Amino acid sequence: MHRTNRNARERACDCRCPIHHGQARSTYNNPDCHCLATCASQPMTLLAPQINGAVFLDVTNALWYVPSLEPGHWDWRYATPVDVGHPLFPASTLITGLLRETHAELLPLLYRL
Ligand SMILES: [Zn+2]
Ligand SMILES: [Zn+2]
Repeated sequence: MHRTNRNARERACDCRCPIHHGQARSTYNNPDCHCLATCASQPMTLLAPQINGAVFLDVTNALWYVPSLEPGHWDWRYATPVDVGHPLFPASTLITGLLRETHAELLPLLYRL
């Protein structure tokens, strides 16, 4: 059986983004990026309508926030790491832990589902 690579960071964009299609994605704030949350290159993402956006961990496990633009689309120009001073910073330890632990718990299921 063919095993697909389910690690988003190693997968190529499949969402017809004009600059990433067919390529892996390592930067998340390229102004011309039109990647969708469902793009194969998008890491596990927490959609958070409460803050009009979504959060995810980059390859270094840093938490990023991206605002939504229109339904299903993201404003990558304003994607930003959640650092000290960011409004999400007080919640970032909890969210980062949640995403990391969920990712770790799902790893054993990688090829079973
Ligand atoms: Zn893109
Ligand atoms: Zn894409």
